[in-house]
Amino acid sequence: MDFGQQPVVTRFAPSPNGYLHLGHAYAAICAHDFARANGGSFLLRIEDIDGTRSRAEFVEAILADLDWLGLEHDGAVVYQSRRVKFYRAALDRLKALGLVYCCVCSRSQTAAAIRERPVRHGPDGPHYPGTCRGKNLPESEETCWRLDMAKATEITGPLVWRDLASGEQRADPGLFGDIVLWRKDAPASYHLAATLDDAADAVSVVVRGQDLLAYTHIHRLLQALLDLSTPLYWHHALLLDDTGEKLAKSKRSPSLSALRKNGEDGRHIADQLRLGQLPLGIGLSKA
Ligand code: GLU
Repeated sequence: MDFGQQPVVTRFAPSPNGYLHLGHAYAAICAHDFARANGGSFLLRIEDIDGTRSRAEFVEAILADLDWLGLEHDGAVVYQSRRVKFYRAALDRLKALGLVYCCVCSRSQTAAAIRERPVRHGPDGPHYPGTCRGKNLPESEETCWRLDMAKATEITGPLVWRDLASGEQRADPGLFGDIVLWRKDAPASYHLAATLDDAADAVSVVVRGQDLLAYTHIHRLLQALLDLSTPLYWHHALLLDDTGEKLAKSKRSPSLSALRKNGEDGRHIADQLRLGQLPLGIGLSKA
């Protein structure tokens, strides 16, 4: 594939809140092999921004699993927990643009407001009903910061991105409503942190599973708001269990660390995944 002057940089970005399974191995192989096939680099980013869910033992297992699979990453491992100031500076820019607001609603208050006044539903469930929008509430221990989606989409106008699997896509971030970008327990949201990191680390092709495709609508919007470059995307097919559930949520798939400790050959397993020779009961979603 010809990417012109731009070097190919991909990344694998697991969240260390559990052990990796074969679906993660497949995602890491796709990103790794895409970089290697195009003379590019393969980065590893640990998405440990959520201090309440991330654990050191899972980080150690991720590093050991990748080594066992024979997937070597380039450069130093990026840890999101070490970049909080960088993410905060981006939130401050959005504040200065008047595009974010403080919200004090608890989950139950939001649910009650939605019962009174039905709202649009998006890929992550009902939209936030906008109770705190326009109130200019001060930041406190209880607040989170939400993006004013209507304002944000108005200032960027129409946006597109290109997916290597499904072609040009029109961004529709309004699908999600006023998303949370910052909260006290897990400072920057996945959307804010991942979008900033991909740009800061010059990731030119974001390779990740189809289950994350909808989030690219939000990431494309954040790129436009924060003057960040837009990478190419490849949302690859997912490994599914025999009930059609993706392996991330399935109870049926053994963890990579269990296979590793059981003496299985990780490089052989990686080669089988490459060839589409999947273990019994596991299939691939449609591309
Ligand atoms: N941390 C995310 C996950 O483990 C992946 C994020 C991404 O690839 O953009 O599902």
